[in-house]
Amino acid sequence: MSEVKLPAELPAPKIGFVSLGCPKALVDSELILTQLSAEGYRTAKNFEGADLVIVNTCGFIDDAVRESLDTIGEALAENGRVIVTGCLGARTVPGAAGDANLVRQVHPRVLAVTGPHATQEVMDAVHAHCPKPHDPFLDLVPATGIKLTPRHYAYLKISEGCNHRCTFCIIPSMRGDLVSRPVGDVLHEARGLFDSGVRELLVISQDTSAYGVDLKYRTGFWDGRPIRTRMFELVEALGALAEPYGAWVRLHYVYPYPSVDEVIDLMARGRVLPYLDVPFQHSHPDVLRRMKRPASGEKNLERLERWRRDCPQLVVRSTFIAGFPGETEEEFQHLLDFMREAQIDRAGCFAYSPVAGAAANELPGMLAPELREERRARFMAVAEGVSAAKLERRIGCEMQVLVDAAPGLGRKGGVGRSYADAPEIDGTVRLLAPQKASKTLKVGEFTRARIVAAEGHDLIAMPV
Ligand code: SF4
Repeated sequence: MSEVKLPAELPAPKIGFVSLGCPKALVDSELILTQLSAEGYRTAKNFEGADLVIVNTCGFIDDAVRESLDTIGEALAENGRVIVTGCLGARTVPGAAGDANLVRQVHPRVLAVTGPHATQEVMDAVHAHCPKPHDPFLDLVPATGIKLTPRHYAYLKISEGCNHRCTFCIIPSMRGDLVSRPVGDVLHEARGLFDSGVRELLVISQDTSAYGVDLKYRTGFWDGRPIRTRMFELVEALGALAEPYGAWVRLHYVYPYPSVDEVIDLMARGRVLPYLDVPFQHSHPDVLRRMKRPASGEKNLERLERWRRDCPQLVVRSTFIAGFPGETEEEFQHLLDFMREAQIDRAGCFAYSPVAGAAANELPGMLAPELREERRARFMAVAEGVSAAKLERRIGCEMQVLVDAAPGLGRKGGVGRSYADAPEIDGTVRLLAPQKASKTLKVGEFTRARIVAAEGHDLIAMPV
């Protein structure tokens, strides 16, 4: 007689997972993976070995849409059982009647499609198509959940959605209006991350400076004490939490509102990194108006000057769009002048790319793709000049560096980042082999290093 297998003895289903898109999508992926793991599902290393595949997509620009659709196609070809989530899942076919879903139109064989920020819907689809195992190994999940970043840094999402309606962006139509997470939950997660070894916390959202606006900055609770749901209070509390761990707190997606001035003071006092990611996108007031940008009326040059006066070590990263519909040569020159005067430490630039469904596509004066690209290249030439001069000035300084890679305990050197470099978007500090035999480098630990040269976007340094 053959032996009957009890449900608990059956191997847990394996789920393949692909995470595409921005850090916000990455956080969604982490939530889904954490839930899968909590329920006892295993992860598969490739499509073939999986019982089902989840693809978390990006729908922001056309290249990302193509990459997401291609990945779904590959998963269908190699596995056949695919659930799609993420921003692309919320996109409809432009011009089609009855809100036809874009993913379903291109790949009708997918099992389910959800929009972003939909852990429960994804889990419902997983349960329907690949029932959960009988015995969940809850204890195997670390308290911090599953992280897709290296162990020593992590993204902390403080809100979802956005109240603005920038004409080039379709995020609000996909993710909805701003919804801030309760301040106590955010701080609880941050403490868990520091406890688990995170040494750099990257605060993200669509609009970090707007944190709490939707909740009218209501008072929440943390550690038995009242605390307002507001950017300054949150950042101050994160800085205090990070201090005993010697960890960094880095702020992304901050708009230049007057309220940010008080956060600069926290930076000057060393509570959080003197680094601000401010997506200016343009400088000319008319272009900013056409873009419907938040804080477009602010005097950004004066504000930057004041911030740097109050916090001289401040590093500013920003992104820009060249060749926005109707951009005149004069408006573009204004942007180049702004870049030279504002001395943005780290700047990225996209040539304007029409995103299906974005209001900007209806604006008059769409520029030829070659002209958009030419302006992007001219902008980057100026931006790289500014950045290179700033990096040169660091030669001879000693900086604290967080080590990201150090094979063989760094005896032949490694790679790290200073406070001026966010992971994946800025440059790195290439660490030379330490001169002292006793000096080792370990991933996730800090080292002091003397800057000896600059090369492209990177610095080269000798650990001391
Ligand atoms: S601020 Fe503008 S660009 Fe950013 S998410 Fe909101 S609408 Fe999009």
